[in-house]
Amino acid sequence: MNKTDTSDRGTLLTRPRNHARAVGRESLPAGVSAKDCRPTTTHYLAVPSVIALRDVSKIYQRGAQVVKALDGINLTVPERGMVALVGASGSGKSSLLHVIGAMDRPTAGEVIVAGQSLSARSEASLTSFRRQTVGFVFQSFNLIPNLDALENVMLPMEFNGVARDARRRRAKELLSRVGLAQRLNHKPRELSGGEQQRVAIARALANDPPLILADEPTGNLDSKTGQMIYELLKEIATERTVIVVTHAEPLAQLADRIVYIKDGRLTSHDESAAPHDPPLNQERSKPYV
Ligand code: ADP
Ligand code: MG
Repeated sequence: MNKTDTSDRGTLLTRPRNHARAVGRESLPAGVSAKDCRPTTTHYLAVPSVIALRDVSKIYQRGAQVVKALDGINLTVPERGMVALVGASGSGKSSLLHVIGAMDRPTAGEVIVAGQSLSARSEASLTSFRRQTVGFVFQSFNLIPNLDALENVMLPMEFNGVARDARRRRAKELLSRVGLAQRLNHKPRELSGGEQQRVAIARALANDPPLILADEPTGNLDSKTGQMIYELLKEIATERTVIVVTHAEPLAQLADRIVYIKDGRLTSHDESAAPHDPPLNQERSKPYV
């Protein structure tokens, strides 16, 4: 991959040198080959990859009940681009995102994200990994209700030790980038669903992570707003990797790649016959399908 790929991009969505550091390819020459990749990943990769999962399983146990949510997942995802993760309700989509984003540990298997193996890391080290490497976007936005848009976007930077002025500046830039320059001091309840999701996307970008994970980000939005959110995510994916869970096939088609999951296993096409996840908030929502 050629480092000059992103040199003509704007500064907000582009931190190519940071990304190179995050994935450990700072010293790689242009036209990198497999043997130039990090030793931990060479057995999976022909090109630098932001995610490499090998034989990942996740088993939930509730008393006597055992649920195999992920069942031997092998997946590599290259730097940059949009991947749609599609599957029926209960197929393991959220479990997979949580494992990739270090919000949960797999029961078995190896998870390498941005050149870092997550398996043997302490909770504290996973927390700092999440802060720096992953931005999450949720179906229900998950903004802090008593903070305004600017403060919501500043918050992850505060956790990351960024000085107040710099936090303010970047949060303003990001909110303007997602079209909300006129809404800086609005609280979440004073914003539409689409606007709240744009704040959440700006917040996910706050610490400039190489990876954005979005779990049904359009599930609570009408189709036109959902389309706009997708286009925003798609644009963001020119500079970093975006994995987006969706059950709206037309939106999945916008992605660079579609990964299908069924019963905790990846499949080559959509095998789901079961109904997809319902939106959380029926009143606000006009689902796609
Ligand atoms: P999806 O996001 O595709 O709807 P999930 O990854 O949330 O699917 O869930 C996969 C399976 O794991 C489901 O059968 C679900 O009920 C089960 N599951 C998810 N989280 C838990 C948990 N914390 N404890 C027990 N079972 C769980
Ligand atoms: Mg889910």
